[in-house]
Amino acid sequence: MTKKRSESNHNQTGMYGLPVDVKFCKRCVISNQRPSSSIEFKNIKGSSKRTIFFDEDGVCEACRFAEKKKTIDWKQREEELKEMLSHYRSKDGSYDVVVPGSGGKDSVQAAYLLKYKYGMHPLLVTWPPHIYTDMGRRNFQAWVNTGFDNVTHMPNQKAHRLLTKLAFENLVHPFQPFILGQKNLAPKISITYNIPLVFYGENEAEYGNPIQDNTKAIRDNSYYAADRRLEEIFLGGVSAKQLMTDYGLTRSDLEPYLPANPHLLEQTKTRVHYLGYYVKWDPQSAYYFSVENTDFYPNVERTEGSYSKYNSIDDKIDWFHYYTYYIKFGIGRATNDAAQEVRNEHLRREEAVLLIRRFDGEFPQIYFKENLEYMGITEQRFYELIDKARPPHLWEQKQGQWNLKHQVS
Ligand SMILES: [Zn+2]
Repeated sequence: MTKKRSESNHNQTGMYGLPVDVKFCKRCVISNQRPSSSIEFKNIKGSSKRTIFFDEDGVCEACRFAEKKKTIDWKQREEELKEMLSHYRSKDGSYDVVVPGSGGKDSVQAAYLLKYKYGMHPLLVTWPPHIYTDMGRRNFQAWVNTGFDNVTHMPNQKAHRLLTKLAFENLVHPFQPFILGQKNLAPKISITYNIPLVFYGENEAEYGNPIQDNTKAIRDNSYYAADRRLEEIFLGGVSAKQLMTDYGLTRSDLEPYLPANPHLLEQTKTRVHYLGYYVKWDPQSAYYFSVENTDFYPNVERTEGSYSKYNSIDDKIDWFHYYTYYIKFGIGRATNDAAQEVRNEHLRREEAVLLIRRFDGEFPQIYFKENLEYMGITEQRFYELIDKARPPHLWEQKQGQWNLKHQVS
């Protein structure tokens, strides 16, 4: 039986289309401001977000999904996986599956299982971070060292910096160029190398996308494929056409950010799967798995903005990403980490609340200067954009100090 959607989801909306009536999930700690994944190449200034649904009991859909996960027969799912892989496995040892990633714990576990447990022949595909952290570079190397071929597509860095700057200026979303490549590149490599099967590790839908996205093994291709009409594709909030006429970029500069061609995907019969559908998956166990089976290392210290050490640590822009997320939606890195750990029963809700109160929204000082330099933005401009991005239903200013109006308790 599906629970009725909470009325608050449909009531008045504020900036970014967020519900103005702020609520926190009674079971985990996420708020109803959390946006679902969106189709990035359609994202423009003023776009409304779909946000996570809360049911009439005040429980979020990610928690309901976690509940549902407990009833899954994982033995049977593994059988499904084995059966499916048997149709794709190459007999001559040539590549038979594309595994995207940059050497974080999820891609490490996915590649390792596919090769060493299920006998596949993966080709790793990497869309590299904007600016590698030392840990990120090291973990990437450790990943390849466990016995894989890797294709890295390094984009034109001049174009990449410009798009990062535009994404920050227009959308306060500096991580967007990374997300675009992360979703688009692997299906395109599938076409180029004629390897129809693509496997991601975790389904990001676990964190509060529509539950129906989560109940299938295959990723909806609207996230990575579209007719490539340049006036209808937006990067950093600017149409691809305008990037060519007004910003001096060429078609080849833009190529890595464009969605895959659906007709070519059809020809290759590309299918994008999640290993998390077939194998029980959570960030903490992916971390332990990576440490046990490869030379993966966590952050040497607590990650700024959270209490954790191993989530999203390979790109210095990640620190900005979580901070801008906190400004726009009132949800920081600690909330994201804690909500997921409560759902996976690694943390109690009361502990999560304390950790969030302590660390959420901590200023990303460590890579601050480097990130500004990367984007070519002054400190003053940074604060101007940040303060304009604060929705009035979430933030108030008292004596020059910005405070969240609603906090988890
Ligand atoms: Zn929840």
